[in-house]
Amino acid sequence: MSRFSKIAVAAALAAAGLVGAPAWAAGEQALRDVEILSTDTMAGRAVGSPGSALARAHILKRFAQIGLKPAYGSFEQPFAFQVGTETRTGTNLVSQVAGTGQSDQVLVISAHYDHLGIRKGEIHNGADDNASGVAALLAIAEALAETPPRHRVIFAVVDAEEVGHRGSGAFVARPPVPLAKIALALNLDMLSKNAKGELYASGGHHFPWLKPRLTALAGKVPVSLKQGHDGPPWTGDDDWTEQSDHAAFHHAGVPWVYLGVEDHAEYHRPTDDFATVPRDFFTRSVRTAIIAARQFDEDLDAISREAGR
Ligand SMILES: [Zn+2]
Repeated sequence: MSRFSKIAVAAALAAAGLVGAPAWAAGEQALRDVEILSTDTMAGRAVGSPGSALARAHILKRFAQIGLKPAYGSFEQPFAFQVGTETRTGTNLVSQVAGTGQSDQVLVISAHYDHLGIRKGEIHNGADDNASGVAALLAIAEALAETPPRHRVIFAVVDAEEVGHRGSGAFVARPPVPLAKIALALNLDMLSKNAKGELYASGGHHFPWLKPRLTALAGKVPVSLKQGHDGPPWTGDDDWTEQSDHAAFHHAGVPWVYLGVEDHAEYHRPTDDFATVPRDFFTRSVRTAIIAARQFDEDLDAISREAGR
């Protein structure tokens, strides 16, 4: 192979978001991460449970393997919250990679690792919700650690989403960088199970300058990437603006994009297991998330200007 063709191949791989280790490029590592986080021993990762601690141990091991640095003094951001009169504790895991450029704008990528735990004696493993999003976040981190981004990227693996977005709320209340520096938050929640091979990108209704960017993204990714579920014209029966961790960023005035699938038969049921994760579609979703993160990083200064922040 000539030098030129090697460069051409590298460029083609880069364009497809596939530069780097074959393990993550093929999605094998992401599948392993989903499998581990959704085993019965993690018992559904309910906030404050022993299974939640096991999930954190795995995610921290992956942070170390990838070579990520803490965004606060430590990877762990504990926080307290109230459920009725009871005070409970959650723990976010927050890491970062440095950017190669001079810009002080920051891209935040979030995914919640908690799920419903054990209900009525049945473990809710939450393979799709949201082991899949955490695995995709880790795949993005691996790709960006290998070929660094232009901007600082902060990875917020948040707790207590299922009890009212408490972890993302705690992150936004005490962010590792001023909120004004966060040009965009990309939230990943439920990336693996869709029979039609569709993934949604929400956010364009609230931030119209995102729409052409999401259209451009749709032309580059290996899934059917649709826009909607955050405003009219309705493509489903619900508005997802308040339905996951991007809500915390929304209320703090930080522009966001949410990637995720529509609800399915296993949503919030004990059947949301690794065994029913479609390998091919999930792998494509992970590559889509990597390509999205790259595009937003490269475009982040223009995003900041257009958002007027
Ligand atoms: Zn979720």
